[in-house]
Amino acid sequence: MTRRPGESPDPRGRHDAFERIGEEAYRATIARRLLSISLLVGTILLVPTVVISYRSGERLSLVCDAVVYLAFLALFLFRRLPSRLTYAAVAGLGALLGSLLLFRSEGGGAADAWLMASAVVATIFFGARGGLALGAVTTVVYALVLSASHLRLLPWQASTESYALRALNVVGLSLLCSFAIARLIDGYRGAIRVQGKLSVELGRRQIELEREVAGRATAEERAAFLESHDGMTGLPNREGFRLELGRALAIAAGRGRILAVMVLGLDRFKRITSTRGQRAGDEILREAGKRLALSIRQDDCVGRLGGDAFAVIFSDVKSQDDIKEIIDKARRVFDRSFPAAGTELAVSASFGIALYPNDGQLADDLLGAAESALQLAKEDGPGSYRVFDAALHARLLERVRIEHELGSALRLSSFEPWFQPKVDRFGRVVGAEALARWNLPDGGLRLPSDFIDIAERSGAISNLGRIVLHKACLRAVDWERMGLPAIPVSVNLSPFQFRSEDLVSEVRSIIADTGIDPSRLDLEITESGIMENEYEAVEKLAELKTLGLQVSIDDFGTGYSSFAMLKDFPVDAVKLPKSFVEPLPSDLRASMVAGAVIDLAHNLNFSVVAEGVETLAQFAWLDDARCDQYQGYLFSPPLSARNFAVALATGLPTAVQ
Ligand code: C2E
Ligand code: CA
Ligand code: CA
Repeated sequence: MTRRPGESPDPRGRHDAFERIGEEAYRATIARRLLSISLLVGTILLVPTVVISYRSGERLSLVCDAVVYLAFLALFLFRRLPSRLTYAAVAGLGALLGSLLLFRSEGGGAADAWLMASAVVATIFFGARGGLALGAVTTVVYALVLSASHLRLLPWQASTESYALRALNVVGLSLLCSFAIARLIDGYRGAIRVQGKLSVELGRRQIELEREVAGRATAEERAAFLESHDGMTGLPNREGFRLELGRALAIAAGRGRILAVMVLGLDRFKRITSTRGQRAGDEILREAGKRLALSIRQDDCVGRLGGDAFAVIFSDVKSQDDIKEIIDKARRVFDRSFPAAGTELAVSASFGIALYPNDGQLADDLLGAAESALQLAKEDGPGSYRVFDAALHARLLERVRIEHELGSALRLSSFEPWFQPKVDRFGRVVGAEALARWNLPDGGLRLPSDFIDIAERSGAISNLGRIVLHKACLRAVDWERMGLPAIPVSVNLSPFQFRSEDLVSEVRSIIADTGIDPSRLDLEITESGIMENEYEAVEKLAELKTLGLQVSIDDFGTGYSSFAMLKDFPVDAVKLPKSFVEPLPSDLRASMVAGAVIDLAHNLNFSVVAEGVETLAQFAWLDDARCDQYQGYLFSPPLSARNFAVALATGLPTAVQ
């Protein structure tokens, strides 16, 4: 079985191995010690033994001693002998020497000692079984010696009883010693086993601990890194960028420098991810981060704020030209296309810039200022930039507040149409334009200039427009029921609503709901709203017309309609915008433009409504130019539904003659 790196070995196997190795090592140590001690003792006793043996004529004893001594010396020097063989040799040599001495003389205490010692040595090396075997050998040797003595094969005669007693003593003591040593070794083996287990457990814990420490170190490092960095691009994240900005600001403050923070957002990034996929989006973000990081100076810094937004610190800005240079530099990052899921995509970005110390002293303030500048830049279209401006910022904050309030106002249906009369050349009310008013909780009114754009951008205009259309139709029906003239009512339709696929069905259901005669309903659509896609617009307009209502082009002449398409527009009227009317009649050029637009509309069979008529002179000029209807403060401002009903019933006070 292969073991993966870092994996702990099988603890049981390790334990057994440890136990074996422990015991073997112990035995080998004892064997070596015994050998050394035997040699030491042998060496010390060598001279006296030789002298005594020589003097007493014990030649055999001398030879035996010499053989055993040399054998022990050989064992000691020749260490590579397998250990078991060494043990067997040590025990065997002892037993052999003892036996030889036993045959040699009757009274040899040395023989008994050698035999007992061999039994002990055998027990040490081979356990109780070794001791028993040597005990048996010793018994046999004594029996053989006794038999040989009886058979007179020996040079001496043994007394049977005393010899048997001696044999019993030697064998008994040998067994006793063996038994004691075997027990000791067993105890030691148990201790080794416990030590082994402990050691294995300790090893395992150590490995676990090391692994845990290593794991924790990398996890902690990673967590610490991710706390201040973006995992995808490796750049500082918002938090990390704020810290960097704080540092850069401290340096700028100390050196009296101007510092610029640029926040940039990739244009239409959501569209890229929804059409090309998340992977393509991630690839673009990584590449953008890399290119930005490469484009800046060493002591500047790039971060990713989240989503498609990046931020850059330019730590030393000296002049207005430097800001231009900064923007050009950032734009160049987007000159080349970006690799995205196997293809190349052109990506652009918008930029917002804020400057220290003018636009903020603290990191958060500066970053916030740059972000709101970016928000405004985005509204200018892709690839735009804005430098922070306090007045704009205030407007932006106001917008955020209004956007927030719009939600609850829509839920409470706090919008009410007011009606501005449209009059004929005699000043008679011949129509009305519904203009949204937001009823505030404090009883005040909020005008469309404060919220229509915001609602248009957030999409809230759909609901708002539906509420106004519904209420305007209801009022028109009410007036008719009250016996007032059934004049047409115009309702503004925003470009957002006009683009909606549900527009026709929604208008149809409101007509059905309120019971208004559709021919009394006129929808005003700005020319710019129609122009986004002229062909589709013509179809949409035609579809609306099938409901039986009227359609007008609001602010006609400001939206660059192509003359070729104009003739195909299925509309009833066009509205001459206030901007065309205002300079009349003194401004000659403006008069010519207004005259040309009126003529063009008439030639295309559209009736013309002049807006923003404030003076009699304007009215006179427009009347001369044969406008069909007029709308403006000269006749009436927008009126609440109730006041409009009065005006409808009684006529306007300033009827023109
Ligand atoms: P608009 O459709 O061009 O409406 C005419 C605007 O000119 C109205 O402003 C009106 O009050 C104002 N006005 C009329 N006569 C005069 C005049 O003689 N002098 C001056 N200075 N102004 C005059 P208002 O009501 O503030 O509406 C502004 C714009 O908001 C409208 O311009 C229209 O585009 C939009 N709007 C208003 N109500 C709605 C609505 O319900 N839906 C949508 N989509 N847009 C609306
Ligand atoms: Ca209008
Ligand atoms: Ca208008």
